[in-house]
Amino acid sequence: MNLSSLNQDRLRTLSLLDRGPLANWIGGESVAPVGGRYSPVRDPAIELVVAEVADSDAADVALAVAAAQRAFQSAEWAGLRPADRERMLCRLADLIEAHGDELAALETLETGKPLSIARAIDVDAGAEHVRYMAGWATKIEGSTLASSIGGPPGVAYQTSTWREPVGVVAAIVPWNFPLAIALWKVAPALTCGCTVVLKPAQETPLTALRLAELAQLAGLPAGVLNVVTGGPAAGAALVAHTGVRKISFTGSTAVGRSIGHSALDRMARFSLELGGKSPLIILDDMDPWRAAQGAAMGIFFNQGQVCTAGSRVYVQRRHYGAVVEALGTLAGQMKLGSGFDPETQIGPLISARHLQRVQAHVAQACEEGAQLVAGGQRGRDSGFFMQPTVFANTHAGMHIVREEVFGPVVCVMPFDTVDEAVSLANASDYGLAASVWSNDLSLVHRVVPRLQAGIVWVNTHNMLDNNLPFGGVKQSGYGRDLGRSAIEQFTELKSVCIAY
Ligand code: NAD
Repeated sequence: MNLSSLNQDRLRTLSLLDRGPLANWIGGESVAPVGGRYSPVRDPAIELVVAEVADSDAADVALAVAAAQRAFQSAEWAGLRPADRERMLCRLADLIEAHGDELAALETLETGKPLSIARAIDVDAGAEHVRYMAGWATKIEGSTLASSIGGPPGVAYQTSTWREPVGVVAAIVPWNFPLAIALWKVAPALTCGCTVVLKPAQETPLTALRLAELAQLAGLPAGVLNVVTGGPAAGAALVAHTGVRKISFTGSTAVGRSIGHSALDRMARFSLELGGKSPLIILDDMDPWRAAQGAAMGIFFNQGQVCTAGSRVYVQRRHYGAVVEALGTLAGQMKLGSGFDPETQIGPLISARHLQRVQAHVAQACEEGAQLVAGGQRGRDSGFFMQPTVFANTHAGMHIVREEVFGPVVCVMPFDTVDEAVSLANASDYGLAASVWSNDLSLVHRVVPRLQAGIVWVNTHNMLDNNLPFGGVKQSGYGRDLGRSAIEQFTELKSVCIAY
């Protein structure tokens, strides 16, 4: 390990961390939590506390929502032209990139993920997403409609639709891609003219706090982007607050479901990006080694803590043995370590609790008769590391095949016919993503429409594009992030009828 580069990367995080306990960001300034409570943030690679942040409750949430409501109605924000919002968001994207080293280091510090992933996904792709969304500000449109209203002689009617910002948005995000997923919500919301209260996961609040400061530097008026840190209590208070008109949530299915119920009680808008148990289908025209490499990326990327992780791999019988063996080899070769070590491919899981959860899934799979091909153990004595793990001889009746593990654990199963592969892939409560691996174009075209998933990849997995809507069917969610769909999520349609 190159210690000098490791220390330098850690030092980059100090501009935020040498300030002592970190308060919320409300109305353009740091605001200490009303209850005076702070909670620790740990570096999961070394298990040590690296920061303390506000452990907020309903009183803090009320302050943040009030600030967002004031900003929503203020001339400084509501009076801006779309082109002004576009320019501000482009400035924010530039600032995210300019502070990319610091943000990536903070992300690696709080999540443990390899620095290269933090930089590429959370920072660079995050900034690109802000830029993409900024472009929409000047392209939001309604329609002029043909009207059939019959009126008294001499009276005509003009009917049209307008798109207006939905109001104050609560953005509640998880810990796996903290900055990127926060930006998926913040950028389109601001583009549409909404104001935001962002609640990061309690494990990963640091980049969100820095983002709010950068937003101010970019010229966003005070109160347009607020950050309230804390756990489920802060999130629940935000969801329940009557001043919040839209909740944009990414996280577990259980929490998403309760948010949906609570939002519906007061008719707040909501969109939910939830869990997954995504299948990869490898057809027998594929080279098994290449397919195994794709499957390894599909499951082990970001320690398997990816909602679209390809955790169920179905291989046509001819190549089943070869793919199992290759995946086992690839898993065994992956280098575990600190995300600050440039050679690291697998960092720690997010927390001790999550490591225990993943280990319990693995133990249960072994008890139910799954064959352990690789991994299965804790990765290191200290830090929350888990070995990349491959199971064979699994079947649809097993918990490990049905439940989301959200870790580097994959089940590999054989199939004989394409019909069988489709029905195995669809035999899941979830429906976030799926991928098909084959060069037989006509077969691919027959399989894609039959897969119950919000996104289907062919010969790739986990590939996102800012223009391509992202979200799930079945228990994987409600609504779509990214693309034009995101703009629709943060606007209300107003119908206007003018008699003349
Ligand atoms: P989680 O649901 O426990 O927490 C997500 C966020 O919700 C956190 O900020 C948390 O503090 C908050 N929260 C928790 N309870 C709440 C409540 N009752 N009311 C309001 N907010 C509450 O999820 P997690 O463990 O942080 O993340 C892992 C899960 O997220 C996995 O299931 C994964 O599949 C899912 N995920 C989905 C996507 C997607 O786009 N579909 C992306 C990433 C992660």
